Amino acid sequence: MAITELSIILLIVLVVVVGYSYPGWRDRRIVARPFPDAWQQHLVRAVPYVNRLAPGEQQQLRDNIQRFLAHKTFHGCGGQVITDEIRITIAAQACLLLLNRRTAVYPRLKHILVYPDAFVSNLGHEENDDGIVDIEDHGHGLLGESWHYGKVILSWDDVRHGAANIHDGDNVVLHEFSHQLDSESGSANGAPVMHGGNYTAWAQILSEEFEELNEDFHHHHESVMDYYGATNPAEFFAVATETFFEKPHQLRKRHAELFEVLREYYAVDPTAWQ
Ligand SMILES: [Zn+2]
Repeated sequence: MAITELSIILLIVLVVVVGYSYPGWRDRRIVARPFPDAWQQHLVRAVPYVNRLAPGEQQQLRDNIQRFLAHKTFHGCGGQVITDEIRITIAAQACLLLLNRRTAVYPRLKHILVYPDAFVSNLGHEENDDGIVDIEDHGHGLLGESWHYGKVILSWDDVRHGAANIHDGDNVVLHEFSHQLDSESGSANGAPVMHGGNYTAWAQILSEEFEELNEDFHHHHESVMDYYGATNPAEFFAVATETFFEKPHQLRKRHAELFEVLREYYAVDPTAWQ
């Protein structure tokens, strides 16, 4: 083979290899894949108000679901079989938290473990050096866990319940994936990375609201937010996220400042959807 022919072949190989591995090009191929009708139906069940999102936001959501599915691995645990319904439901709700924001799709997250229902963790710590953020034990086992390093664990039964009622402020996917966002800053402490956001205002408002929820809890006052948010600042951010997306009108009315900082952070206004 002549030197020129060899060079041409090598050049072609190089172009193909680079083309398939360059993130921007790979990403375009991923989002160019068809979004099947069956997926759209799962999406509508997972996010029933999806048609109220602006057309551009609906496209963003579908694109991010494609990216999510391309880069994360789902594992069925305790006999759970992973279906498209499970993958789309979790991906759709997780990606709702990313709309209009300059962020990658949970870059540190690699694995999603799904149990059929509430599971028992053998970890036994609320927060430890291994990076576990969250254990929610409501007396019937765990509904979800989020780890700093690459892993979310969910109960499918609770994911389905979360999707079935979008007005009760209880959604384990929104909860666990807000912990993932929180972890991107290096530790889960209720202060996620903000692009151009005002950390001072965020810290002040969230700590005031956290104190208020603790007061409400101790005095048995009624609260828009679940008292689980009074556990610590990380749980407060996660519960505030669930409330922001599922009870936006109530949150805006009763906690206007908190609603406003969350609206800035999440770059959406769920009152327009609900
Ligand atoms: Zn939590």
